[in-house]
Amino acid sequence: MNPAYDFTGQVAFVTGAGSGMGLATARAFAESGAAVALTDADAESLDAAAQQLTGAGHQVLALTCDVSDEDQVAAAVDRTVAAFGRLDMAFNNAGIQVPPCDAADEPVEVFDRVNAVNLRGVWACMKHELRHMRAQAGGAIVNCSSLGGLVGIPGRASYHATKHGVIGLTKSAALEYAPRGIRINAVCPGTIDTPMVTGMIAKGELDRAQAEADQPINRLGRADEIAQAVLWLSSPGAGFVVGVALPVDGGYVAR
Ligand code: NAP
Repeated sequence: MNPAYDFTGQVAFVTGAGSGMGLATARAFAESGAAVALTDADAESLDAAAQQLTGAGHQVLALTCDVSDEDQVAAAVDRTVAAFGRLDMAFNNAGIQVPPCDAADEPVEVFDRVNAVNLRGVWACMKHELRHMRAQAGGAIVNCSSLGGLVGIPGRASYHATKHGVIGLTKSAALEYAPRGIRINAVCPGTIDTPMVTGMIAKGELDRAQAEADQPINRLGRADEIAQAVLWLSSPGAGFVVGVALPVDGGYVAR
């Protein structure tokens, strides 16, 4: 049990829960007493995550769901509510990185794919989560943006556009739903040591030493540090926090 939060009796929905920050956040929600719907496009990692959490005695539901397909998102959210009876918290986290590219050379397929997952995926998740939350007149949603939602980096225009878009979605929907008892915020991770970043380092798309030096705290972040920020934003302790894009980045955007 996580002594900092008690989400007993509440239900959380997490996308991209098979890996990295999604898995860490799903685990943190479960350790705080919530029933958790784990969703991911990758059935294998999803299955492993579900086994890990079920083995630890937590109440979880594993649902394969590609967030770029709105029908799959709608079905996953509906199945969560059918299984657990309600939906209180969501972390719309699933996302992909694309190779760095000169803005003059990027193929349209890459732009469309990163938008379909990172931006339209968050849009679809919020849409279907809100249909249940507005009926309950309560809930908390955290969308996953990035330091890439707050600043630009050469070669990263498409990815950063999606993450800036997530903040726009978050702010507008937050204003719309705050009067109805639903808080919507975004988290903006810096460079976090997850399989996504390990993959970028292995492909030569990111230099680990440089990434560490770029964050004033001089190290990469950990997935559990993002999970703790998401849990706080989801908790009553953040009851007056609406429409923020919270950097959790070792100081990257403070410079
Ligand atoms: P990760 O380790 O790659 O985990 C992401 C998970 O989402 C993977 O299991 C992935 O499956 C899944 N996924 C990919 N596309 C999906 C889709 N269309 N539908 C459903 N699930 C999908 O990545 P992470 O580092 O934890 O990143 C999580 C989020 O944080 C992403 O939105 C990312 O953009 C954002 N972020 C990451 C960092 C960082 O430094 N790591 C920094 C800022 C923001 P596959 O493995 O099959 O792709």
